[in-house]
Amino acid sequence: MKAKEKKKSGAILAVSAGIFVIALSISSFFLLQIIGRMNQSANQNLLTSSRVISEGLNNKITLDRELLSALTELLALEENGVIEETLREYADSTDFFRFAYIDMEGEGVDSEGNAVYASDLPFDEIALSKGTDGMSAPYHGASGRIHITYQSPVFREGKQIGAVYADRIIDDYNLPTLFTFHNGAGSAYVVDGNGDFIIKSRGTASETDVYSYLAKQKNGAAIQDTLRRVIQEGKSGTLVVTNEAQPSLLGFLPVESPQGCYLITVVPRAVLQQEAKPIIIMLCTMFALLLLGGLSVATLFAGRQSMKADVRQKEYREKLFGNLSANIDFAFLLYTPAGRKVELVSDNLSGLLGITPEQAQEKPERIFDASGLPQGDADRSSFFNGTLKEQTTRESMVGVGPNEVKRWIAVHLIPADYGQYLAVFHETTEEHNMREQLADALTQAQNSNRARSAFFSSMSHDIRTPMNGIVGMTNIALNNLDDREKVESCLNKITGASGHLLELINEVLDMSRIESGRISLKEETVHLPSLIANLLSFLKPDMDKKNQSLLMKSQILEHDTVISDGLHLQKILLNLLSNAAKYTQAGGEISLQITETPVDAETIRMSFVVEDNGIGMSPAFLKRIFKPFERAEDSRMSQTTGTGLGLAITKSIVDMMGGDIRVQSREYEGSCFTVEIPLKLPAQQAREYPNLAGYTALIVDDDQDACESISLILQETGIRANWVTNGPEAVEQLWNAHVRKDDYYVVILDWKMPEMDGLETARQIRKRLGSEVPILLLSAYDWESVKDEAVRAGINGFLTKPIFKSGLLEKLRYYIRGEKSKTEALGTEQSLSLEGVRILAAEDNELNREIIIELLESSGALVDSVRNGQQALDRYLNSSPGHYQLILMDVHMPEMDGLEATRAIRGSGRPDAATIPVIAMTADVFKEDIRKCKDAGMNAHIGKPLEIDKLYATLRRFLNNDQKKAGM
Ligand code: ADP
Repeated sequence: MKAKEKKKSGAILAVSAGIFVIALSISSFFLLQIIGRMNQSANQNLLTSSRVISEGLNNKITLDRELLSALTELLALEENGVIEETLREYADSTDFFRFAYIDMEGEGVDSEGNAVYASDLPFDEIALSKGTDGMSAPYHGASGRIHITYQSPVFREGKQIGAVYADRIIDDYNLPTLFTFHNGAGSAYVVDGNGDFIIKSRGTASETDVYSYLAKQKNGAAIQDTLRRVIQEGKSGTLVVTNEAQPSLLGFLPVESPQGCYLITVVPRAVLQQEAKPIIIMLCTMFALLLLGGLSVATLFAGRQSMKADVRQKEYREKLFGNLSANIDFAFLLYTPAGRKVELVSDNLSGLLGITPEQAQEKPERIFDASGLPQGDADRSSFFNGTLKEQTTRESMVGVGPNEVKRWIAVHLIPADYGQYLAVFHETTEEHNMREQLADALTQAQNSNRARSAFFSSMSHDIRTPMNGIVGMTNIALNNLDDREKVESCLNKITGASGHLLELINEVLDMSRIESGRISLKEETVHLPSLIANLLSFLKPDMDKKNQSLLMKSQILEHDTVISDGLHLQKILLNLLSNAAKYTQAGGEISLQITETPVDAETIRMSFVVEDNGIGMSPAFLKRIFKPFERAEDSRMSQTTGTGLGLAITKSIVDMMGGDIRVQSREYEGSCFTVEIPLKLPAQQAREYPNLAGYTALIVDDDQDACESISLILQETGIRANWVTNGPEAVEQLWNAHVRKDDYYVVILDWKMPEMDGLETARQIRKRLGSEVPILLLSAYDWESVKDEAVRAGINGFLTKPIFKSGLLEKLRYYIRGEKSKTEALGTEQSLSLEGVRILAAEDNELNREIIIELLESSGALVDSVRNGQQALDRYLNSSPGHYQLILMDVHMPEMDGLEATRAIRGSGRPDAATIPVIAMTADVFKEDIRKCKDAGMNAHIGKPLEIDKLYATLRRFLNNDQKKAGM
């Protein structure tokens, strides 16, 4: 901007200068012309004056000549005797010096009476000798001065008788009126051909010739030479000379007579130019004025331009700053330290720092105080005293007080042009926080990286250990094929190691699925009692090994069926409970408490609390516990295998289910994990509970709360329930009732009670009261192990904790009224025999194929195996209808996949096309995959790797149906 303005005013200056130079040249040209003309006219003027003088001199001479001719005529008439007198009279009456008359003999007389002889005449005589008249050249006469003599022949009657001579002192002609001009300023001289003065004038008294006069007047030889030359050449003109110390003009003009003489006129130039002077002065003044005018116009213009540019620049600057500050979060202060002047301050300063522009104008230091840059700061000081050399940036925190909001303000201090300094303020709180967050994230990333590396090193160790076991045991088994016991023990160990390996791989896969967001939850009906029973059956062996006890602390649960992803729900509890078992010493105690709270008509919130009295965790580790790959570094844990992924997976699943997981723990004291999950209820939950009004029951449990909650439920059905908290009291109560003839209809007896346990109590009851009253044993889990003993002690049935309302009531109905529930009926089904069942199995992986054949054939099935969907289809189409009772179909296979093969089978139009059970075997166990299988016409699916129990359970479902149907 500034550069542009500079350029513009430069251009204006250049144009003005150009115009000025042209004007000056034109003016100078005219001035020179005028001066030239004036000089010319001065020359003319001088020559004119010279001519006038020359004319005047001529007139005088003519007059003198006429006078002499009159005398000549007079003398021609006179007698010789009177000549002398006439001459005298003439001399007296005229200004002539003397007259003379000489006769033809050369003798004569003059006006003074003196005899004259022609031979003595001091000039060239022509009148007597040549008979012509004329004028002599100037000569030094008898007066001692320069004379000229007019001579004329005298004729009488046509014959020359003599000649008359009239002497004139030439200086007589030197009349001031004639020989001075221009009011006496100019003088005239007459010189002869040699330059000698004939008629002198002012100032030439001491000089004899004009050249020496000029030399005396300090004129160079050149001038004298010029004059000499022009005189010799008979020219007329003017010369510039110095006369009486002033520049003068010298005119030279040949005069008619005396012959060969020149009239020299000299006049100071000043005099000649007198008239021109006012004009020249006027012109010069005009010129000067013009110059001055031009200059001032140019200056004014340039000034105006630069003033305009300044104003414009200022306006522009203010506008720019205004726009900037209105649209960005940067506030400005422009300051000139030299004048301690605030040049500019942006309006948004008040918004940013709470300082109004007026306050800033008054005391700019305030802005810096508000921005947090302290008074003693070196950069701040150098900004105010104008010593700041280069741009600097400072960031400070404001709002340090307890109730103030902390903010970060950055100040950029910038030395600008013209001794001004710019301070730019803006808030950097967000950037600052982001920087800190990034630093935190970096630390976290580094930590997680560290954990990952630790994981990989422990993973490779964890994988290698069971692998070594498997390889080693396989070798031992191979070498001892004859020793059945050894082979069996080897195989058992191999099974254990493979199980661990599989778990490890599954967890890593699960984690990676979760991390990449590929996991999705199923929505299926989950039967909680089965889920818990399943769970406990997994955990029991390990807990038993460590002699740990599991406590079920739950009250009675209202709902036994919910909508959820059963596998994942089970995984959550399995992880927590297996950790509790893993990280609790032998003989430790682990408890699971399940409670439900209603959310709305369709949802409940179920909480699962897993507590142990194991090794616990440090507060520092608790912060990281849910991060993947984190394991506590604890010497007590060195014996336990693990990946550090279980809890990360658990937390991810809980999160996906919309639940919440918390942990409390103290080192050496134990840990407590709480999971709360919202669970949907299936639509047909309204169950009809049996009406058992009028019946009585006795509840025996050392846990008073349990007694109360059970009796509450019983009362709902009309049962009159009493409770006692120990065995002896129970026996007592029962006996008393018996005596009153008011026997209880049923006894619910807790197994684990101090002093006298459930079994002992049952024995006592049977001993006193016989086998009449049904006794239900209430146990945490694992009644199978005491089943025989319990039956012997007189127990009729079992109730497992946690107690679900429906289960409890169904049991009561059965034992009080003798009605069997559906589940009970199902539970008594015999285990599956595949004897003679024909199964078609399609599986492309050879090892898997081998395993499946082995598993099925070991149960008596007849298995035909194929390698892809096409072969399966062909095999099916080529068999007679009903030949195969079931098809196991891998999904991913070459040539034709399982889905397509199933569609082809279902669409084959054979009699069993729609009914033959097709069961998918797939590693894809997500909702989406299952839906695809169902859409293709498959009946169910089993996950891979195959788990025997699950495989049998599924086969049982379809083959039983089949058998029933077949039976119908
Ligand atoms: P893993 O058990 O495979 O190491 P987890 O993610 O299940 O991985 O657990 C992470 C870590 O948390 C464990 O290594 C252990 O240090 C600690 N931990 C988990 N549960 C308990 C518990 N009940 N008592 C003590 N420490 C536990």
